[in-house]
Amino acid sequence: TERLAEADAKVAEAIKAELERQQSQIELIASENIVSKAVLEAQGSVLTNKYAEGYPGRRYYQGCAPSDAIETLAIERAKQLFGCGFANVQPHSGAQANGAVMMALLKPGDTILGMSLAAGGHLTHGAPPAQSGKWFDAVQYGVRQDDHLVDFDEVERLAKEHRPKLIIAGGSAYPRHLDFGRFRAIADEVGAILMVDMAHFAGLVAAGEHPTPFGHAHVVTTTTHKTLRGPRGGMVLTDDEAIAKKINSAVFPGLQGGPLMHVIAAKAVAFGEALEPGFKTYAKAVIANAQTLAMRLKERGADLVAGGTDTHLALVDLRPLGLTGKDADTSLEHAGITCNKNGVPFDPLPPMQTSGIRVGSPAGTTRGFGEAEFRDIADMVADVLEGLQANGADGNGRVEAAVNDRVRALCARFPIYQR
Ligand code: PLP
Repeated sequence: TERLAEADAKVAEAIKAELERQQSQIELIASENIVSKAVLEAQGSVLTNKYAEGYPGRRYYQGCAPSDAIETLAIERAKQLFGCGFANVQPHSGAQANGAVMMALLKPGDTILGMSLAAGGHLTHGAPPAQSGKWFDAVQYGVRQDDHLVDFDEVERLAKEHRPKLIIAGGSAYPRHLDFGRFRAIADEVGAILMVDMAHFAGLVAAGEHPTPFGHAHVVTTTTHKTLRGPRGGMVLTDDEAIAKKINSAVFPGLQGGPLMHVIAAKAVAFGEALEPGFKTYAKAVIANAQTLAMRLKERGADLVAGGTDTHLALVDLRPLGLTGKDADTSLEHAGITCNKNGVPFDPLPPMQTSGIRVGSPAGTTRGFGEAEFRDIADMVADVLEGLQANGADGNGRVEAAVNDRVRALCARFPIYQR
């Protein structure tokens, strides 16, 4: 049979359940978004059948003319979007993009300097359990205790002491702008390469609503599925021709085999969407919405890491409420609001508990929520948290059910993926 529902009822049912979950829950996971049907269609296309090892015009397989056209479109659109000279759109994920930079520019045992997980960095920036932490001599910087901003005195001190070959700026739970110029000055002082991992805020950069790392970073990596609102995947960008050549060899044949041509097609579609004027409106709304959400949560008694947000995400410190991130994200999911527990800087609790939650506006903004809706969402979150305070983790069912009614009503007003 042809149709998934007939061919494999179990998988089809689980996908249907996921569709219904996305339609009826409020998505506050800061790294997620809701792609267009056009992106879904490209990603679900026959290109999944094609092997196209190599690059446009230089493939190891025959039959690559359509693949060449698609990859060239993705590359040219990416370059236009970020105003840079080179793009490799083949990395299967953000981790692969970062791995490709390390493969291109480093040798095992070299020293790298990145933001610690505890301060909001990513695993691929030198965290102990990751390849970046195991295969390199990884030194980690953090944030200041008082304002939760990158401690540039520490970055500079560590750079001078350890002389890293690569300095990494960027993170997964850092709500403020990063000073790329300051990072570059430190990199220049010690002869290091500066890589900016803009995975989280790439869409905001593309829209001109966030400072750009280009002009500062030697090389930039990103995912394509967060604020950029494309398919799951990665990308490496640079203006440096020598680095560009090394990146191409590192992605293929260094790290990967065949590119995921169906995903690259979806990347091309998403980049085309991001080049439309409407994407700037979207990015502006993402930031305004995140700020509204964060400030209302603060009014309702939570603390905000770094005092607020410049971007699409906020890190909410639940300690003033006496709650853990784990209890909060579990109860919120029962109410139909998905977010993730997240450590706050200098968190006394372990990673499976945490003192905070990370919340973001990219997905909600895509489905049309504005500031009024995000203020309501903050109140829904705060009501669940207050319920937790009063009733404990096992006794909050009534509050969760009542909030879920409001969640469903709001989602029904802003439908997604209707036929
Ligand atoms: N870099 C940053 C800053 C991220 O936040 C993430 C994902 O969470 C990644 C890299 C890795 O991306 P992926 O999950 O596609 O491997």
